Amino acid sequence: MWTSCTVKVHDCLASTSVTLKRCLRLGVAMAKSKFEYVRDFEADDTCLPQCWVVVRLDGRNFHRFAEKHNFAKPNDSRALHLMNKCAQTVMEELEDIVIAYGQSDEYSFVFRRKSNWFKRRASKFMTHVASQFASSYVFYWKDYFEDQPLLYPPGFDGRVVVYPSNQTLKDYLSWRQADCHINNLYNTVFWALIQQSGLTPVQAKDRLQGTLAADKNEILFSEFKINYNNEPLMYRKGTVLIWQKVDEVTTKEVKLPAEMEGKKMAVTRTRTKPVLLHCDIIGDAFWKEHPEILYEDS
Ligand SMILES: [Mg+2]
Repeated sequence: MWTSCTVKVHDCLASTSVTLKRCLRLGVAMAKSKFEYVRDFEADDTCLPQCWVVVRLDGRNFHRFAEKHNFAKPNDSRALHLMNKCAQTVMEELEDIVIAYGQSDEYSFVFRRKSNWFKRRASKFMTHVASQFASSYVFYWKDYFEDQPLLYPPGFDGRVVVYPSNQTLKDYLSWRQADCHINNLYNTVFWALIQQSGLTPVQAKDRLQGTLAADKNEILFSEFKINYNNEPLMYRKGTVLIWQKVDEVTTKEVKLPAEMEGKKMAVTRTRTKPVLLHCDIIGDAFWKEHPEILYEDS
């Protein structure tokens, strides 16, 4: 064992400096054992080059989770803000995410086309996003649900989808936002029928069977005086996260001149942060306003 290791280190010294560094770091582990061949069983899951890599997370069994934690219906703003906080954390902690979109219990994260993070391995992208998101959900829970203890640990499933062009990526995000609209309109009427007209869930479902968007808008307006277009944007459009320059004001103690020492001064710093937007991303306006998202040159 020792002999073989010595030989290996010696071999390393003769090779490139990159390999040398690796050898020194790995030390004894560098010696190949007869078990090494099991590495060949690992599947290659490298994402296609020059494509957008999307990781979408979805809450595991969140129907039950929402019931147990008394989420408001049809939307619980605390839960949505917590999801947004987790997504911001994911963008700040991980590399190369250019835009994220979330609604309900799901979030999509888009990695830049040229990202070479973890050599573009799908499992690395997916597991890092899912674990960072889930731990953030638990970590920040108490900031959003002050009077509601977390009763059991939530989970999120993840998937990776690779999109080959700007158009397919935009269509993917449009699909998720259209889904948000369809579900939110349905849920808004469904819960109004239950909460305000006293229908049972089955009766509400039957009432909405076969109705179109215009019919649902009409029920909301004529029966509940709700103009759907005045519902909060976060509920109707979901949340978009993009990097933007933000001015941050901090206070700093003055050191010099002597007569000013100890006094506090406001200092403004510009930082690039993931900023929350609740806007339409289906039309062209958003992409024209933020061309840097799709056309990065680095
Ligand atoms: Mg779910």
